[in-house]
Amino acid sequence: MAQPEPIEITPASSIPAHFQFWEDAAGDASIDQVVTLPAERWTLVPNGSATFGLTESAYWLRFEVRNQTQLNLNLIAELGYSQLDDVVFYVYAGGAQVKELKTGDGRPFYPRDVDHPSMLLRASLAPEELKTFYVRVATAGSMIVPLRIWREQTFFETAAYELKLHFFYYGCILVIVLINLAVYLSLREKLYLYYALAIFGYLLFFASIKGFSFQHLYPQLPELHAKALLVSIPGLALFSLLFCREFLNTRVHSPRLDKVLLGMMVFEMLFLFSAPLLDYHTGIQAASFSALLFFSLLLVAGPVVWMEGIRAGAFFTLAWTPLTIGVLATSGRALGFFPENFFTEYGMQIGSGLEALILTVALADRLYREREDKIIAQAASLREAQSRNAAQNLLTDALAHDPVTGLPNRNRFEWMVDQQLRQAPHRRYMVGVARITRLDEINRTLGLTRSEWIMKRVAAQMVELAVGLPIVQAIRDHQGREERVYHLSSDCFCLLIDVDKAGNDFSALNSALRQLAEPLWLDHLAIELNPRFGAACYPEHGRSAAEMIRNAHVGMEVTPRGSNEAGIYSQRHDIYSESRLTLMADLREALQQNQTMLYYQPKQDLKTGHIVGVEALIRWHHQERGWVNPVDFIPLAEETGVIIQLTQWVIGQATNDLAHLHKDYPELSVAINISARDLESTGLHSTLELALQHNGLQACSVTLEITETAAMLDPVRSLHALNVLAELGYPISIDDFGSGYSSLSYLKQLPAFELKLDRSLIHDICVSESAAVIVSTTIQMACSLGYRVVGEGIEDAETARRLQQEGCDTLQGYWLCKPKPIAELKQWLQVFNASRVTAVK
Ligand code: C2E
Ligand code: MG
Ligand code: MG
Repeated sequence: MAQPEPIEITPASSIPAHFQFWEDAAGDASIDQVVTLPAERWTLVPNGSATFGLTESAYWLRFEVRNQTQLNLNLIAELGYSQLDDVVFYVYAGGAQVKELKTGDGRPFYPRDVDHPSMLLRASLAPEELKTFYVRVATAGSMIVPLRIWREQTFFETAAYELKLHFFYYGCILVIVLINLAVYLSLREKLYLYYALAIFGYLLFFASIKGFSFQHLYPQLPELHAKALLVSIPGLALFSLLFCREFLNTRVHSPRLDKVLLGMMVFEMLFLFSAPLLDYHTGIQAASFSALLFFSLLLVAGPVVWMEGIRAGAFFTLAWTPLTIGVLATSGRALGFFPENFFTEYGMQIGSGLEALILTVALADRLYREREDKIIAQAASLREAQSRNAAQNLLTDALAHDPVTGLPNRNRFEWMVDQQLRQAPHRRYMVGVARITRLDEINRTLGLTRSEWIMKRVAAQMVELAVGLPIVQAIRDHQGREERVYHLSSDCFCLLIDVDKAGNDFSALNSALRQLAEPLWLDHLAIELNPRFGAACYPEHGRSAAEMIRNAHVGMEVTPRGSNEAGIYSQRHDIYSESRLTLMADLREALQQNQTMLYYQPKQDLKTGHIVGVEALIRWHHQERGWVNPVDFIPLAEETGVIIQLTQWVIGQATNDLAHLHKDYPELSVAINISARDLESTGLHSTLELALQHNGLQACSVTLEITETAAMLDPVRSLHALNVLAELGYPISIDDFGSGYSSLSYLKQLPAFELKLDRSLIHDICVSESAAVIVSTTIQMACSLGYRVVGEGIEDAETARRLQQEGCDTLQGYWLCKPKPIAELKQWLQVFNASRVTAVK
């Protein structure tokens, strides 16, 4: 081969470089042998750059440089590939060696002619001087020999510019790494960590392939430099694979691809750990091979997932393509497939830069989308929560309100009352209940629809009345609706009254109750609702809503029928209270064991002055409670039915005592109190008959006292029963006349011979003119109807005298004699008769 022209250095700045090379396959040729090599052994590389791939041969380069200028020139010869292991420059001038420089990254970085990762040699040429350069290159890596001849100044300018570019690139990559690390630290999503580490892997890879890390980090450790490059490749591959799996979510979107990725990861892991042990030549071969494999795999991964319709797949494909092209170019150059040029040299950097940029955008997009999805999900869950709340409110509302009237129900009332009592426990309250007693009957007669209409009307009327009563407690529910009246149960309403606010003035309330009691008009029909009212007070009658509701009902039971006022609870009437129930059990036992007694109170004929009879009054001494007042246990006995047994016992005892009394006082009669329940029972008259027979008495000597209210509870039945008894010869007496709602028109029908004027009517006739007028009119009326009149509860002589004046027939009371046991009565009768005899004498 002909000797090539020397590289001519002209005043023009660009220096076109070319060189010749000789392959020293054995690698043992010396410079002296090489210098004498015949010309034909040398091969020309006209463009100044050659790539021989991985080779174990040493390569010799030869070129000549001539200074065509008139100046002394300082030149730099550069082999622009920093990975070359062993590079020795020889400079010959005039046939003699003038310089030898050993460099290459197989040796410690320093000393070098120029502090730069490339293989550089300084040379100076005088005008017209020609120098011949030999360079021996041996390397375990890729044999890439890009030769350039620089003017010194141009070199440093270019190097500085390149350095700037490099730092810009590393700076950007580092920023991306830091951003992703920060995102990872705040979100704790592994994806960002993998990405940061993968990008960091690229950084290390470039820093070591460009010789920067060697130059700046470990210049004295060429072995470490070689290993760092080998380790950085599987490292970046491993984190890229991890990132790819996470980013593309291959587990979900493509399980098969996921398995391949996992396989690749295992390979890279093995490579990572074995890389430090491999010799550089094998290592670099394996690295290039693995890089090719893994880049191709990741190039496929993007489209595979993209085809599943996943947006991340598109981004990944877009990002990975330039990088793969860059890597292919770089690896191809390293393996000697591609020539050495700007693109093959910087392809991977450009590709990785683009990749990092696109993936950063993709991650930002992903973050944005995730946030968007989160917001959408939050909005959806908010909507769901709202509709759930609405449904819950509807349900709560339904649970707290009556379906017919829409009024708040018992639950609500109890809650409201209990809350009120908790908030202001020292105020006084009253729970009022109203029961529409005829609701059942209305249901049966008019049907459910109309009765519901009626209930709605009643509810509306109650609310309207309650609004006009400031003493009725009002609250607002969560929807701002005002609650005053509550629908307790099908026929029952209730409300809470602030007693402190009312003072003692319940007149407005009572007038409201009267209005409620008025009939309701439905299709020209006046519907009588017959409401009954009951009330219980706080704190006397209960300390909780439930207790007060219950007691208000008990109070309602004691309201006289037809009364438009509320019956206030009293323990005395509470036949349901536990102590009262046990009281009745005790009473039954006392009656059975004969532990009850009869006291007798005499009645005196005011005309003759004779004692004409005695009234039998029951007395009970309870073992634990002491004397129990008949007023406390008689109503209870009536309610519970014990009265039947009690009356039987009284009849037996009284007739027995009367038989004894008859021995001395044959004209005496005994009066027995009979209750409404006795009249209802069928056994009364047989009990009486048996008692009379047993004691040899006549029916006319046993007077039956019945209160007018008892007689009126079931007028038809009572009338019938009384007629039967009257026909049998028992004198019937109307007890407590004037204490209740007397109806003379009804009384007229009763077969009674006697009226007993109640003490409440009589007791103040001496002090009250109107009372005196009432009593005198009543006596006159009763006399004109043919009744004998008894004045009850006479406590003083003055009242006795007035009654006598008014025409009263008989007298009974403490003034004459208190009720006494039979033995004492006998003594009293003796004394009384004796005194009368004395008086007559
Ligand atoms: P009642 O039949 O009107 O009996 C009269 C009540 O007035 C008796 O009360 C008597 O002790 C009381 N009394 C008589 N004179 C005076 C007086 O001057 N001043 C005052 N303050 N009170 C006087 P007692 O015995 O407590 O009986 C109360 C009520 O209990 C009776 O009223 C009667 O309705 C009922 N009761 C008493 N014993 C029996 C019974 O054996 N059977 C039934 N069914 N009821 C009875
Ligand atoms: Mg009586
Ligand atoms: Mg009486």
